[in-house]
Amino acid sequence: MAMKSTPARHIAALIERIGRLSHTSSHADGLLPVQWEILRYLDRANRFSCTPAAVTAYLGLTKGTVSQSLNTLEARGLLRKQVDPKDRRGRRLSLSAKGRLLLRRDPLAESIAAIDGLTKKSQTALADSLQAMLSARLDAQGRQPFGQCHTCTYFTEVHDDGDPHYCSLLQEALSADDAEAICIEQTAS
Ligand code: SF4
Repeated sequence: MAMKSTPARHIAALIERIGRLSHTSSHADGLLPVQWEILRYLDRANRFSCTPAAVTAYLGLTKGTVSQSLNTLEARGLLRKQVDPKDRRGRRLSLSAKGRLLLRRDPLAESIAAIDGLTKKSQTALADSLQAMLSARLDAQGRQPFGQCHTCTYFTEVHDDGDPHYCSLLQEALSADDAEAICIEQTAS
Protein backbone atom coordinates (compact mmCIF):
# COMPACT_ATOMS: atom_id res chain seq x y z
CA MET A 1 0.00 0.00 0.00
CA ALA A 2 1.28 3.50 -0.92
CA MET A 3 2.51 5.61 1.96
CA LYS A 4 0.05 8.32 3.02
CA SER A 5 0.94 11.67 1.48
CA THR A 6 1.41 14.53 3.95
CA PRO A 7 2.49 18.17 3.31
CA ALA A 8 5.87 17.42 4.94
CA ARG A 9 6.44 14.35 2.75
CA HIS A 10 5.43 16.31 -0.36
CA ILE A 11 7.80 19.21 0.46
CA ALA A 12 10.69 16.86 1.29
CA ALA A 13 10.22 15.15 -2.12
CA LEU A 14 10.13 18.54 -3.89
CA ILE A 15 13.37 19.63 -2.21
CA GLU A 16 15.00 16.33 -3.13
CA ARG A 17 13.94 16.71 -6.78
CA ILE A 18 15.09 20.33 -7.03
CA GLY A 19 18.41 19.30 -5.45
CA ARG A 20 18.84 16.57 -8.05
CA LEU A 21 18.10 18.98 -10.92
CA SER A 22 20.69 21.43 -9.56
CA HIS A 23 23.18 18.62 -9.04
CA THR A 24 22.81 17.41 -12.63
CA SER A 25 23.29 20.88 -14.13
CA SER A 26 26.27 21.53 -11.84
CA HIS A 27 28.59 19.31 -13.90
CA ALA A 28 29.63 22.41 -15.83
CA ASP A 29 32.96 23.80 -17.08
CA GLY A 30 34.65 20.50 -16.22
CA LEU A 31 33.93 20.93 -12.48
CA LEU A 32 32.02 18.65 -10.13
CA PRO A 33 29.03 20.02 -8.17
CA VAL A 34 31.07 19.95 -4.94
CA GLN A 35 33.83 22.02 -6.59
CA TRP A 36 31.27 24.67 -7.58
CA GLU A 37 30.06 24.63 -4.00
CA ILE A 38 33.59 25.29 -2.74
CA LEU A 39 33.96 28.27 -5.11
CA ARG A 40 30.62 29.67 -3.88
CA TYR A 41 31.63 29.11 -0.27
CA LEU A 42 34.94 30.97 -0.68
CA ASP A 43 33.06 33.82 -2.33
CA ARG A 44 30.76 34.20 0.70
CA ALA A 45 32.98 33.26 3.67
CA ASN A 46 34.87 35.74 5.86
CA ARG A 47 38.63 35.68 6.37
CA PHE A 48 38.39 33.51 9.51
CA SER A 49 36.54 30.81 7.59
CA CYS A 50 38.64 30.39 4.42
CA THR A 51 40.56 27.32 5.55
CA PRO A 52 40.44 23.67 4.43
CA ALA A 53 38.99 22.71 7.84
CA ALA A 54 36.18 25.27 7.55
CA VAL A 55 35.33 24.15 3.99
CA THR A 56 35.24 20.53 5.25
CA ALA A 57 32.92 21.49 8.14
CA TYR A 58 30.66 23.50 5.80
CA LEU A 59 30.29 20.67 3.28
CA GLY A 60 30.13 17.88 5.87
CA LEU A 61 32.39 15.69 3.73
CA THR A 62 35.58 13.82 4.57
CA LYS A 63 38.87 15.68 4.79
CA GLY A 64 40.30 13.57 1.94
CA THR A 65 37.44 14.35 -0.48
CA VAL A 66 37.65 18.08 0.22
CA SER A 67 41.44 18.07 -0.03
CA GLN A 68 41.24 16.42 -3.48
CA SER A 69 38.76 19.04 -4.72
CA LEU A 70 40.88 21.89 -3.32
CA ASN A 71 43.92 20.50 -5.16
CA THR A 72 41.93 20.29 -8.41
CA LEU A 73 40.70 23.86 -8.06
CA GLU A 74 44.21 25.07 -7.24
CA ALA A 75 45.69 23.19 -10.24
CA ARG A 76 43.11 24.88 -12.48
CA GLY A 77 44.14 28.27 -11.10
CA LEU A 78 40.70 28.91 -9.55
CA LEU A 79 41.89 29.27 -5.95
CA ARG A 80 45.08 30.06 -4.06
CA LYS A 81 46.47 28.41 -0.92
CA GLN A 82 48.71 30.59 1.25
CA VAL A 83 50.44 30.01 4.55
CA ASP A 84 48.20 31.16 7.39
CA PRO A 85 49.99 34.12 9.06
CA LYS A 86 48.52 33.01 12.42
CA ASP A 87 49.39 29.31 12.05
CA ARG A 88 52.45 28.38 9.94
CA ARG A 89 51.13 24.81 9.50
CA GLY A 90 47.71 26.01 8.35
CA ARG A 91 46.59 27.26 4.93
CA ARG A 92 44.38 30.18 3.99
CA LEU A 93 42.29 29.79 0.83
CA SER A 94 41.12 32.52 -1.51
CA LEU A 95 39.49 32.72 -4.91
CA SER A 96 41.77 33.79 -7.74
CA ALA A 97 40.63 36.35 -10.32
CA LYS A 98 40.01 33.39 -12.65
CA GLY A 99 37.85 31.73 -9.99
CA ARG A 100 35.79 34.92 -9.53
CA LEU A 101 35.34 35.17 -13.27
CA LEU A 102 34.19 31.57 -13.53
CA LEU A 103 31.61 32.14 -10.79
CA ARG A 104 29.82 34.50 -13.18
CA ARG A 105 28.92 31.34 -15.10
CA ASP A 106 27.69 29.57 -11.97
CA PRO A 107 25.23 26.82 -13.04
CA LEU A 108 23.11 27.81 -10.03
CA ALA A 109 21.93 30.68 -12.27
CA GLU A 110 19.13 28.43 -13.58
CA SER A 111 17.71 28.01 -10.07
CA ILE A 112 18.19 31.72 -9.32
CA ALA A 113 16.21 32.61 -12.46
CA ALA A 114 13.37 30.30 -11.38
CA ILE A 115 13.31 31.88 -7.89
CA ASP A 116 13.38 35.38 -9.43
CA GLY A 117 10.10 34.45 -11.11
CA LEU A 118 8.40 34.21 -7.68
CA THR A 119 6.88 37.20 -5.89
CA LYS A 120 9.03 38.95 -3.26
CA LYS A 121 6.63 37.73 -0.57
CA SER A 122 7.00 34.11 -1.74
CA GLN A 123 10.79 34.48 -1.88
CA THR A 124 10.92 35.76 1.72
CA ALA A 125 8.61 33.00 2.99
CA LEU A 126 10.58 30.35 1.07
CA ALA A 127 13.94 31.63 2.36
CA ASP A 128 12.67 31.69 5.98
CA SER A 129 11.21 28.19 5.74
CA LEU A 130 14.24 26.64 4.06
CA GLN A 131 16.59 28.37 6.52
CA ALA A 132 14.59 27.00 9.46
CA MET A 133 14.63 23.52 7.92
CA LEU A 134 18.37 23.69 7.25
CA SER A 135 19.05 24.89 10.82
CA ALA A 136 17.03 21.99 12.25
CA ARG A 137 18.91 19.44 10.11
CA LEU A 138 22.34 20.91 10.94
CA ASP A 139 21.45 21.14 14.63
CA ALA A 140 20.40 17.49 14.70
CA GLN A 141 23.81 16.55 13.28
CA GLY A 142 25.70 18.89 15.64
CA ARG A 143 27.08 20.91 12.74
CA GLN A 144 27.84 24.63 12.57
CA PRO A 145 25.19 26.84 10.93
CA PHE A 146 27.66 29.13 9.07
CA GLY A 147 25.23 32.04 9.37
CA GLN A 148 25.86 35.64 8.37
CA CYS A 149 28.12 37.67 10.64
CA HIS A 150 25.63 40.49 11.37
CA THR A 151 23.25 37.93 12.94
CA CYS A 152 25.93 36.67 15.39
CA THR A 153 25.83 37.16 19.14
CA TYR A 154 29.48 38.37 19.05
CA PHE A 155 28.76 41.07 16.43
CA THR A 156 28.91 44.69 17.66
CA GLU A 157 27.34 47.22 15.30
CA VAL A 158 29.58 50.15 16.25
CA HIS A 159 32.78 49.87 18.28
CA ASP A 160 35.74 52.22 18.95
CA ASP A 161 38.15 49.61 17.51
CA GLY A 162 35.75 48.59 14.76
CA ASP A 163 35.62 49.21 11.02
CA PRO A 164 32.91 50.22 12.01
CA HIS A 165 31.78 46.79 13.33
CA TYR A 166 33.62 44.51 15.74
CA CYS A 167 33.82 40.84 16.69
CA SER A 168 34.06 40.37 20.46
CA LEU A 169 34.94 36.66 20.08
CA LEU A 170 37.92 37.02 17.73
CA GLN A 171 38.60 40.61 18.82
CA GLU A 172 38.89 41.83 15.25
CA ALA A 173 37.51 44.86 13.40
CA LEU A 174 34.81 44.05 10.85
CA SER A 175 33.83 45.97 7.71
CA ALA A 176 30.38 46.32 6.13
CA ASP A 177 31.35 43.49 3.72
CA ASP A 178 32.43 41.30 6.67
CA ALA A 179 29.00 41.83 8.24
CA GLU A 180 27.35 40.16 5.22
CA ALA A 181 29.82 37.26 5.01
CA ILE A 182 29.29 33.80 6.51
CA CYS A 183 31.51 32.56 9.35
CA ILE A 184 32.45 29.22 10.88
CA GLU A 185 32.19 30.74 14.38
CA GLN A 186 28.78 32.35 13.87
CA THR A 187 26.43 31.83 16.81
CA ALA A 188 22.90 33.12 16.27
CA SER A 189 22.02 35.97 18.63
S1 SF4 B 1 30.92 38.31 15.04
FE1 SF4 B 1 30.47 36.11 14.94
S2 SF4 B 1 30.15 35.72 12.77
FE2 SF4 B 1 31.22 37.69 12.92
S3 SF4 B 1 33.40 37.21 12.79
FE3 SF4 B 1 32.85 37.20 14.97
S4 SF4 B 1 32.35 35.06 15.43
FE4 SF4 B 1 32.29 35.29 13.20
